[in-house]
Amino acid sequence: MSKLPDIKTNFAEWYQEVIQQAQLVDASPTRGCFVIRPYAYAVWENIQQELDKKIKDLGASNAYFPLLIPESFLKKEAKHIEGFAPELAVVTHGGGKVLEEPLVVRPTSETMIYYMFSKWITSWRDLPLSINQWANVVRWEMRTRPFVRSLEFLWQEGHTAHRTKEEASAMAQAALQAYKDMYEYYLAVPVIAGEKSPTERFAGADTTYTIEGLMQDGKALQMCTSHLLAQSFPASFDVQYQDSDGSMKTPYCTSWGFTTRSIGAVIMTHGDQDGLIMPPRIAPIQAVIVPIFKTPEEQAIVLEKAAALSQALKQQGVRVKVDTDVTTTPGAKFFHWELRGVPVRIEIGPKDIANNQAMLVNRMEMDKAKKKTPASLDVIAQATIALLDTIQQGLYDRALRRMQDNWHQADKLADFGPAIDTKNGLYQAGWCGSADCEAKVKEYKGTIRCLLQEKKHAVCFHCTSQSISDVLVAKAY
Ligand SMILES: [Zn+2]
Repeated sequence: MSKLPDIKTNFAEWYQEVIQQAQLVDASPTRGCFVIRPYAYAVWENIQQELDKKIKDLGASNAYFPLLIPESFLKKEAKHIEGFAPELAVVTHGGGKVLEEPLVVRPTSETMIYYMFSKWITSWRDLPLSINQWANVVRWEMRTRPFVRSLEFLWQEGHTAHRTKEEASAMAQAALQAYKDMYEYYLAVPVIAGEKSPTERFAGADTTYTIEGLMQDGKALQMCTSHLLAQSFPASFDVQYQDSDGSMKTPYCTSWGFTTRSIGAVIMTHGDQDGLIMPPRIAPIQAVIVPIFKTPEEQAIVLEKAAALSQALKQQGVRVKVDTDVTTTPGAKFFHWELRGVPVRIEIGPKDIANNQAMLVNRMEMDKAKKKTPASLDVIAQATIALLDTIQQGLYDRALRRMQDNWHQADKLADFGPAIDTKNGLYQAGWCGSADCEAKVKEYKGTIRCLLQEKKHAVCFHCTSQSISDVLVAKAY
């Protein structure tokens, strides 16, 4: 265990180190694939639990589809295969024989699911049909980074079919809103929701909605997306139904996904020089109790009190752990749990017990005078819960301030372009809608992250013709 690289000057190294030292991931012998270790998987389970409720509230039911998809399925929708072809992993052999038709390891499941929809949807009474799958997918990425971009990742993918375009569009936007709530309420990560430009759309979509966040190094991270698919998609798989007037129609479909990248967003939004900071609502351990003692007599008294305290917290629904390891010092324990970002530490020793109190330590507070506060053992559970709420809100507020501080109004690309790569940050500017002007941003290593609702700029950042929408420009992961 060594000191972490400087988070301000060497963010990329800090990220790689902190996830190793805190035992979130480990490298695997498979190129570009990472092992998600128990502590990180527990974060994913907490996210899953909350998101699954939201997905069911959207009307979707969980199901599971095959990992392997006949190669011909992906070729049915022209834009889809064009977009995904470079990223596909293809199985050519099975049981020692060359397969008659190669099988693609799913990069996403639209093709398989629409094939099944063509069997399940025959009448307008079958609509809407809303299915969700929790699964792994594989995309052959060349440059990988744990959680942010890896060959294999975990996600949920929602797929729905509707009678009208309006209903499908509302569904795609409702899914996006659920994701926004997930990020802001549970992960304490403020986000910007908007529409992608046509060149950044999902392969085969009419409209792609996105959620973008700002990481501590000033780079944007696309958090998740939701798509209103073109009708060519269901049409390619003969998804048709008989409407109430007897005519045959093609439904309107949506798809939307939320991935383990969200864990990367949490690390890059909240972490500090001492390690991770887990937002309480998804933290695997919300409070860790560190018993402090010197003599065997003290040990017996303190451990007994710590166990009782842990019980009291558990009864109030707090995810708590007592660090009973007698081979390490309290100082080493503080370091260990701070690195892992446990939001609240409770220190208890003989003097505290004599005073009927314990010390509550706030992981995110940097001011030493405010970091520790005594709490009476009579109300320790309430005090811990209140502190967890303070930290959850504090993390969100701090990240929001950072986003506001790094959000710049910009006019001409020639003026703000150089700053995209050197200073990073978010740049709001006008855009004429042309792909040529959009491509100019790439010369500065930036991209249009999304179109914004707010309109402050009258002319395009490049050609200076009339702007159709403000856009958010940034360098992204
Ligand atoms: Zn332009």
